[in-house]
Amino acid sequence: MSEIIVATQNAGKVAEFKAALNGLPYKVLSLADLGKFPEAPEQGETFAENACSKAKFYARLTGKLCLADDSGLEVDYLKGEPGVYSARYAGEYASDQDNNEKLLEHLIGVPPEKRTARFRCVLVLADAEKLWYTADGTVEGIILTEARGNSGFGYDPLLFVPEMDRTLAEMSPAEKNQISHRGRALKKLVMQLADQEK
Ligand code: IMP
Repeated sequence: MSEIIVATQNAGKVAEFKAALNGLPYKVLSLADLGKFPEAPEQGETFAENACSKAKFYARLTGKLCLADDSGLEVDYLKGEPGVYSARYAGEYASDQDNNEKLLEHLIGVPPEKRTARFRCVLVLADAEKLWYTADGTVEGIILTEARGNSGFGYDPLLFVPEMDRTLAEMSPAEKNQISHRGRALKKLVMQLADQEK
């Protein structure tokens, strides 16, 4: 059975990725199962570039097939910002709250119809030589003028998702995984892997 290494240091993502890949004929391990690894550099200008460089970085270090992701928030009024800078929007060591405050400041006075935004996730499965599969997922919403809800992380309390009539921080983890950018990208990746087995 081939192995896939979930190439992230984030334990929450490891669990979500392992659950999504469950049932496929792969042995799924995480970086933590193999040892200690440095953080992968994130210097790309797109989610795809970052996901690809992370997958290749860990594939070279482990010699195995690696699955990496990159994600963030794209706000239309801000021409796609914070995008790949989502984690460090308010500075290198910014907290979620700092980032959320900065986002709200940049949208002061902007009416609801111009506050459209989405989370995007790009997944890349690669070994050291070759990029095998990529998948992309989005969840569309509107940036509120104040935070709502206590679950999730990051910008979740600010993104109101019309199809669920709630913010992402007002959903249970299972509800969020069903409609999230990462959940949708994972479903697409799993379909590609399952097709390959036919
Ligand atoms: P990364 O893909 O884990 O590097 O995510 C980059 C940043 O995007 C995070 O630090 C968050 O600020 C934001 N982000 C990505 N996914 C989510 C999400 O599901 N909810 C809220 N914020 C997210």
